[in-house]
Amino acid sequence: MRCKHWRRVPLNLVQEARQLAPAGCVDRAVQCQLSVHEGDEHYGLLAELDDYGVALWLRWREHWMNLVVLRDCPVAASDPDGDGCCLFAGHPEQHTWEDTPKEVSCTS
Ligand SMILES: [Zn+2]
Ligand SMILES: [Zn+2]
Repeated sequence: MRCKHWRRVPLNLVQEARQLAPAGCVDRAVQCQLSVHEGDEHYGLLAELDDYGVALWLRWREHWMNLVVLRDCPVAASDPDGDGCCLFAGHPEQHTWEDTPKEVSCTS
């Protein structure tokens, strides 16, 4: 089960993210990409920064948020045509392909 938390991205962070994102296109609201988890720190994917194997994330708690650039999680499902994980290296909880193998999409 995916975490249900959504966060509206403030305009100043959207503008900052658009300068970093190759396509210049960033959503105004993001859903936490983690599986349902303990704690109040959530991570929403803003943009892939393709060439470097990294992505731009919005990390937030109830009263603060910031932009972070995180390396992609390198762990893929073990079957030959298995999906890669949509999360960042060192993330808590399950890999995305462990959680909902049939409906994983990295571009939510
Ligand atoms: Zn969450
Ligand atoms: Zn992972």
